[in-house]
Amino acid sequence: MTATIPIQAVSGGCSDAPVLKERGQREVFCGLTGIIWLHRKIQDAFFLVVGSRTCAHLIQSAAGVMIFAEPRFATAIIDERDLAGLADCNEELDRVVTRLLERRPEIKLLFLVGSCPSEVIKLDLSRAAQRLSGRFNPSVRVLNYSGSGIETTFTQGEDACLASLVPSLPATDADAPASLMVVGALADVVEDQFARLFAQMGLGPVSFFPPRRATQLPAVGPNTRFLLAQPFLADTAVALEARGAQRLPAPFPLGVEGTTAWLQAAATAFNVSADRFAAATAPGRERAGGALGRLRAQLQDKRIFFFPDSQLEIPLARFLSRELGMALVEVGTPYLHRSHMAEELAWLPAGTFLSEGQHVENQLDRCRAAQPDIVVCGLGLANPLEAEGLTTKWAIELVFTPIQGYEQAADLAELFARPLVRRAKLVGARVKTVASKPPEPERLEAI
Ligand code: SF4
Repeated sequence: MTATIPIQAVSGGCSDAPVLKERGQREVFCGLTGIIWLHRKIQDAFFLVVGSRTCAHLIQSAAGVMIFAEPRFATAIIDERDLAGLADCNEELDRVVTRLLERRPEIKLLFLVGSCPSEVIKLDLSRAAQRLSGRFNPSVRVLNYSGSGIETTFTQGEDACLASLVPSLPATDADAPASLMVVGALADVVEDQFARLFAQMGLGPVSFFPPRRATQLPAVGPNTRFLLAQPFLADTAVALEARGAQRLPAPFPLGVEGTTAWLQAAATAFNVSADRFAAATAPGRERAGGALGRLRAQLQDKRIFFFPDSQLEIPLARFLSRELGMALVEVGTPYLHRSHMAEELAWLPAGTFLSEGQHVENQLDRCRAAQPDIVVCGLGLANPLEAEGLTTKWAIELVFTPIQGYEQAADLAELFARPLVRRAKLVGARVKTVASKPPEPERLEAI
């Protein structure tokens, strides 16, 4: 008998719900942003952005570079001479890479990261990566991917990075037992928690992709089953499937239900008994359920509006509506991958307003008309909306913060409760100030 923890289904759900598709101006960060969490995850990798001063500024300010630290990312600046075709960009790039690798022998994996400027001047970074890999192999592997903002949202940077790494993964032995691969960058603390849970179920071998070190790339092949830990890895999944690996359909590990069903998908595929699964997950489920109960009072019936940004919107909406009783006004997503989202859509309350893509002005109109209690959006929209009196949550914070798994379920709920509490305090303080304000001098005279 395999593992089954019953999870309450929603009648109807949103599996076949209509989706408003919009095209127009978008307000999102570009894929370079992924470098901020990826360089922390793969500890011997280096990310060399081939871009402009704007790209360098984005990465440096977003990652908060310390002067004395040796960051594992940098920008090879494409300047006016390169743009005007007066310099040979490939020669300059080779020179920069050679100097970098001489100075930083600990680098084992170098990503050349394309940007809008490198794409505009049609600099072929895949040929550059092949050329440099040939020169520096075997001590350094050089790969390339695009982080350009021309047609992406910021989480696609991780997808492009991991997809570029898949062809480098070693092949599994044909007669090796089935193994599980967890795909998507997770905070180390979350990864450790999941590894412990899989070990308690007796499930293995388990690998995590990306690994913490480039020298520990997991093997992949037809005997690999993989679970997506992040909902924005469409190209990576295709690349893994091309290597013969099979995706285990599951919702994403957000909240108690999502985490349980995600673990259950693996447990079922690896024939873990129901008793063993229940024993391994019960303590986490109970702890998280109790912690969420305390936050439910703050979030119940609060109306939430999602602008499309991180691609986490649908799993987050499912968690917030089902486990915390929030009301979904609109759930916007940059891209809707119907098969990766199938389990999530089935769990959304029937009638949820779903939108894909963005026409920011139209969406702002809908948001203002709805006056939700809280808005999840990018940094560029958050300040103006706050100034209009709306409460906001930065979507990017949800990618930087460990939110997956049982132990993080309450932290995730808190990320939404905190701005509401702050707003309530601000409003309370304003009411108090107005109430305790002495009468104006003119009125005193009148009295
Ligand atoms: S890649 Fe494009 S969108 Fe991103 S910082 Fe550079 S120029 Fe701007």
